Amino acid sequence: MTSAKSESSEKNAGDETLGFDTRAIHHAFDPAEFKRSVQPPVFLTSTYGFESVAANEAAAALGGRLYAREYNPTTEILEKRLANLEGAEAGLVLSTGMAAFGTLVLSLLSQGDELIVHKTLYSNTVAMVEQGLPRFGIKVVPVDLSEPSNLDAAITDRTRLVYFETPVNPLSAILDIAAITNRAHARNIKVAVDSTFASPALQRPIEHGADIVLHSMTKYINGHGDTLGGALLGDAETLHMLHETGLRYITGATLSPHSAFLIMRGLKTLSLRMDRHSASALAIAQMLEAHPAVAWVSYPFLDSHPDHAIARKQMGQGSGMLAFGLKAGFDGARRIFDRFQLLTRAVSLGDTDSLIYHPASIMRARQSIRKDAHLVDGVSEDLIRLSVGLEDVNDLIADLRKALQIL
Ligand code: PLP
Repeated sequence: MTSAKSESSEKNAGDETLGFDTRAIHHAFDPAEFKRSVQPPVFLTSTYGFESVAANEAAAALGGRLYAREYNPTTEILEKRLANLEGAEAGLVLSTGMAAFGTLVLSLLSQGDELIVHKTLYSNTVAMVEQGLPRFGIKVVPVDLSEPSNLDAAITDRTRLVYFETPVNPLSAILDIAAITNRAHARNIKVAVDSTFASPALQRPIEHGADIVLHSMTKYINGHGDTLGGALLGDAETLHMLHETGLRYITGATLSPHSAFLIMRGLKTLSLRMDRHSASALAIAQMLEAHPAVAWVSYPFLDSHPDHAIARKQMGQGSGMLAFGLKAGFDGARRIFDRFQLLTRAVSLGDTDSLIYHPASIMRARQSIRKDAHLVDGVSEDLIRLSVGLEDVNDLIADLRKALQIL
């Protein structure tokens, strides 16, 4: 982009005038620092040698830049770039989205503290708050945050954090970030938002008042279904603490530099992909809504979505995630699933490939090995989740129509 390092550094420091896509491609990378490589090199090293005691101490003073669990030049570019795109002061990337959640809560919360969560969350986040945190004396209080005023009565003098997803997995319900954050901040409580379903191309929770943003980068940010990753973005002081304690010695869940490279490659096309995911998902949602075998459809940018006004306020587009139920319910879902030829029957989301998943079928299979396995609050037995990929939308619609024909 630039010839002189100083010019480039200045440009990166003040590139707020550049558009989202330009920053997604260039922010925080100065080719002059890397032998003019156009793409960020992958630093596969576990440790760093220092030319002197003073240099070693200087690296330590910068915050544990001694060892690759806590510092890697490839990974650092991704952290700065994502923080910039989210409008955050700083970022931290981790090995998975669950590692990001674990690092967040195990660093910020202690025995006796209380965590407020929305009643519906990604199923393994539910497992962590129901089974993990209580073992460490952290009380988790589930609240229906679709009515933000419900927060008021749930907050006590032990509440430390409010945590929710929007859009909410798997129903694509929408929670009002600004309304929830205003109420939490009035009581001096921080708010963390899992924005995985939207990605920073469509929604930036910090612009609506949130303190911390969490992403499973496994999903849209990487977007190609070929690596796992997680991220935390927020103010510099909190992120420093999450880095210095949470990553360095609590979870140790470092993202591999090779994954950081892949995720940066994906990030370069994020908003292009989100445009296509969103347009195709809207077309599919409209087709399903008009289909005689379909009982209901939930997609944030459908007029029939109960929270579509909030979705339009805080999201640029509806994203690629939708949920629907059939008039033939649980059994109907099982019958159509084996008929898909293009849609892939798989968990996960946000990939180039369309992925379709029926949580209740998986749950019933799990119950055969774990009796207490249950569907998350707010998830019905008929719910089918579809992550609309980047294939030709007419082909996706044809595959769905053909499968629905038997009903
Ligand atoms: N948050 C949401 C909304 C998710 O859907 C997921 C995974 O599906 C996660 C977090 C966890 O991310 P990971 O699978 O990268 O650990």
